[in-house]
Amino acid sequence: MKNIQTVLFDLDDTLLQTNAVFTSAIEKVKEIIGRDPNNKKEHVSEVFEKSLARAFNEVSVNPVNEWPLAFKYMREEIEISDETLDLVLQQMYGIYTTAPELTAGAVEILEYFSTRKYKVGLVTHAIEDWTNLKLDTHGLRKYFTHIEICDTNRHKNEDDWRKAFDVLQTHPSKGLIIGDNVRGDIIAGKAIGVEKLIWINNQFGWKVYQSGEVPEGTIEVKGLLEIIDLLEKQSD
Ligand SMILES: [Mg+2]
Repeated sequence: MKNIQTVLFDLDDTLLQTNAVFTSAIEKVKEIIGRDPNNKKEHVSEVFEKSLARAFNEVSVNPVNEWPLAFKYMREEIEISDETLDLVLQQMYGIYTTAPELTAGAVEILEYFSTRKYKVGLVTHAIEDWTNLKLDTHGLRKYFTHIEICDTNRHKNEDDWRKAFDVLQTHPSKGLIIGDNVRGDIIAGKAIGVEKLIWINNQFGWKVYQSGEVPEGTIEVKGLLEIIDLLEKQSD
């Protein structure tokens, strides 16, 4: 890729299929809460999605804040006993001891960039222990010259990307960002002057990460394999 020195990746739902881990825990939680015949399935589902989005907006992704708050909001509308609350919290905390599967093409794309002239970094927004589990499970650590773990008590933003470019001594205009979160990855990158942005439009991903206006000039793809195709068509 012309004029690119450094490639920064997002991790969740970019290199890993993290949403699937959440979806499976969330489905289990809905099933547990729905065991009470007073709790209609569609209503549980709707209230959960709404409560989760509200908690995420307020406290971001630190699990010890996000899940108790999400269920607190849920309990304002749905009867959930203390016993059930313990069960559903356990389900959600189980996410953080589970390593998501690799996205198709993840290793190939990391190999592509790391065996060429590029510096490769990771900017990820999740608690450190879980990040370590993900990286070690799939042996991904070796691909990154720098791993930036963003503060989970706030949303991922341009400062996180700027920091990673600084550490890798690259001006953002010579950087490429690959991520799925419109605001936290793509708009944030654009804000610090990154010109090459690749947005992975995970059509079945979490709506919160797909909301926002994708900046002009962003390359939109459905997955990593599509990026590999694009790279192979380029000679430089
Ligand atoms: Mg992501």
